[in-house]
Amino acid sequence: MSSFDAARLYFEQAAEHMGLSQNMRTLLLTPERELKVQVAIERDNGEIGTFIGYRIQHNSARGPMKGGLRFHHEVNADEVLTLASLMTWKTALVNIPYGGAKGGVSVNVRNLSPGELERLTRKFVDEIHDFIGPDKDIPAPDMGTDAQVMAWIMNQYSKYHGFNPACVTGKPLELHGADGRTEATGRGVGLCTAEVLRRKKMDIKGTTIAIQGFGNVGTFTAKFLHDQGAKIVGVTDVSGGVWNPEGLDVPELIRYAQEHRGIAGFEGTEPISNDDLLTSEVDVLIPAAVGGVLNVENAPHVRANIIIEAANNPTVPEADESFNEREILILPDILANAGGVIVSYFEWVQNRQHFRWDLERVRKELDRIMLESLNKVWKIAEEKGVSLRTASYIIGLGRVGRATVLGGM
Ligand code: GLU
Repeated sequence: MSSFDAARLYFEQAAEHMGLSQNMRTLLLTPERELKVQVAIERDNGEIGTFIGYRIQHNSARGPMKGGLRFHHEVNADEVLTLASLMTWKTALVNIPYGGAKGGVSVNVRNLSPGELERLTRKFVDEIHDFIGPDKDIPAPDMGTDAQVMAWIMNQYSKYHGFNPACVTGKPLELHGADGRTEATGRGVGLCTAEVLRRKKMDIKGTTIAIQGFGNVGTFTAKFLHDQGAKIVGVTDVSGGVWNPEGLDVPELIRYAQEHRGIAGFEGTEPISNDDLLTSEVDVLIPAAVGGVLNVENAPHVRANIIIEAANNPTVPEADESFNEREILILPDILANAGGVIVSYFEWVQNRQHFRWDLERVRKELDRIMLESLNKVWKIAEEKGVSLRTASYIIGLGRVGRATVLGGM
C-alpha cells in the first residue's frame, strides 16, 4: 500500500462519519499541483550531482499553501503528497489561514558539504520560485532542513521577486525569523502530552516516556517534558539509542548529542535498539522521526498506554486499528505536531506587519491555540464516539469542505 493510500484511509474514516459526498472526497484528495524538478549542482570535486526535487501543493481552499521542505534520501512523490495532504488537515484543524503543501529533495544531506547544500537549495528555488511566495505557498523547515536553509531560500527568492521575508518561515532571528519557532513543534508536543496526562489523571512527575528521534522535534519535546518533571527513560536517533530507567539527564544529553553528532554512548546509560524502544515498558511513547515506524509487526508488542505522534504519519492504519482495539490513546500528528506551523504562521504575520513579537507573546498564543484545538478534538471524539484521530480529521475536513463550498469553483 502506498503511503498516500494509507493516509487516505484516515481521511475516509472521517468522511464516512460526515457523510461527505463522493465528489467532494475526490476533490479533497486530488492535489492542485505537483511539481517534480531536476536539481543539478556542481559538486565540490567538480563533478555533476543530479537530484530530484518536489513541491506538491495539495489544497488552497482556506489560504496560501503551507508546509515544510524535507531533504532526505527517502523523499519521493508518494511521501511528499501524503505529507502535503496532512498539512491541509493540520492547518484547518488548528484554524490558521492556510492550505497545505510539502516539498523535498531526495538527497542524503550527510553526504553534502555546506557549500553543496547551499547550491542545492538555491537551485531548487530557481526551479520553483514562480510557484511559491507569501500569498501562494510558503515553505518551512522539516527533516534535513533548518534556519540556514530557509535563509538561502529567502535570499534566492528575493533575487527574482524583490525582498520579501514572508516567502518562507523558520528563518534565523537575524533575518526576520520568529522567536520561539525553533522550539515550537517540541513545545506543542510537550504541551499536548502534559494535557493528555492531566485529563487521564496521571501525574506528569515520574511519568515514564520514550522518544524515538532526537532531532529538532525530539530534542525540544524531551526538554519541555523533562522540565515538567517527567522521566525520559529512553531515546533513540540515527546514531543509536540510550536507556536509563531512572530518567535521562536531558540537558546533558542535548549537550552530548551536539558535541558527538548523536546520542550513542552517552554516559550512565544502557544501549537500546529502535525496535526495543518502540516496545519498551513506558507510560508514553513519542515517535519523533520518520513515518511508518509503528507497523503491523511491532504494534501488538507496544506497551505504552499513550502514543503522542510528534512525527508526521508514524502509524500505519493496521497499527492504528490495533491500538484503538487495545484502547491505547493516540494523539494524532496533525494535532500533536502542529506547534511548528502555528509559530510559522506567527512569523509570517510578523513579517507582513513588520512588527516583532517577544517570546512570551509567541508562547502564550501558541499554548492557547494548541490547547483550544486539543479541547475541541477531545469534545468531538467524546460526542461522536470516535478516536482522537478521526475527530481531528472531522474538524479539519469540515473546515476545508465548507470553505470549498462557500468559495465555489
Ligand atoms: N514541517 C512542519 C510540519 O510538518 C512545519 C511546517 C511549517 O511550518 O509550515 O508541520
